[in-house]
Amino acid sequence: MSITMSTRWAHDLQIPGIVAPMVEEEVLSTEETGRLKQEIRQLLREHNAVLIAHYYTAGDIQDLAEETGGCVSDSLEMARFGHQHSAQTLVVAGVRFMGETAKILNPEKRVLMPSSDAECSLDLACPAQAFTDFCDAYPDREVVVYSNTSAAVKARADWVVTSGIAVRLVQHLRAQGKKLLWAPDRHLGHYVQQTSGADMLIWPGSCVVHETFRAQALVQMKLAYPGAAVLVHPESPAAVIELADVVGSTTQLLRAVQQLPNSQFIIATDNGIFHKMRQMAPDKQLFEAPTAGVGATCRSCAHCPWMAMNGLRNLAQALREGDHEIKIDAEIGLRARHSIQRMLDFAATL
Ligand code: SF4
Repeated sequence: MSITMSTRWAHDLQIPGIVAPMVEEEVLSTEETGRLKQEIRQLLREHNAVLIAHYYTAGDIQDLAEETGGCVSDSLEMARFGHQHSAQTLVVAGVRFMGETAKILNPEKRVLMPSSDAECSLDLACPAQAFTDFCDAYPDREVVVYSNTSAAVKARADWVVTSGIAVRLVQHLRAQGKKLLWAPDRHLGHYVQQTSGADMLIWPGSCVVHETFRAQALVQMKLAYPGAAVLVHPESPAAVIELADVVGSTTQLLRAVQQLPNSQFIIATDNGIFHKMRQMAPDKQLFEAPTAGVGATCRSCAHCPWMAMNGLRNLAQALREGDHEIKIDAEIGLRARHSIQRMLDFAATL
């Protein structure tokens, strides 16, 4: 990063303390896995439904999504895919804001999720009323929010961004002389600010997964694997980002594993991504970047507890019973759609 200027944090905000839930991963026998997959294939056909899964969900769900004509991707591509697909029902395996984004872009479609408890620490750390008060206190700032936010927060924003286009969009706004208010991820906000040089006031939220990567332990790991390239998602702390060979969104990190000549990679993002990375680059050796880990306070240990709430059982149940349907207030949906559509339009120009 060549540009440096001091980062402005919104220190005076009272944001909720977020505790990641303890979640048991779904463990199924081979027979039950096969039976549930077969049932889900059939239910998708019967309900004119398509399965849209995030890279951080379980490998079985990712495989099923691709096999049945759905998609596995990051949140930007999930939004695009759901918007363009003709299915009447979108089944979103991910966390709540992803289901909400699908509904906002497709109000006429039914959007189901395997679990209504699948949250995101960034979304939870940015309650709509506190965020609105914050924005109202800085009327001279353009409001840019990360996609990991509620529909109501998106509705208050001027722009929504994903990690894949955050730097480009902020550079674009800076070139127009705009001062910005950024929410909710402080690490991504700091990285974008340092990279773009924009004037940004940053909300202090964080991701329970990426925040646990540790720079000191990563330095030791780099010594043990000197030929390994270090790939880091920008929701990680600045000290970890500084050690990276590549900083990028999940899609950009996947591309790096395929395209870089290294045979070994140390990866600082949710380990759900390893499933797709192994499919795309089967000859490469992949290592998880170190977290606080065993014996410390790390509850996520490189895997999102909310993403882990998506399983084949509750996916089948959602399709069978119409469970966990996403509903959005029409007016909020309309305003949120405007900010999301601006992101999609901007992304299409890149
Ligand atoms: S990995 Fe982090 S940013 Fe992604 S859904 Fe989980 S808590 Fe949110």
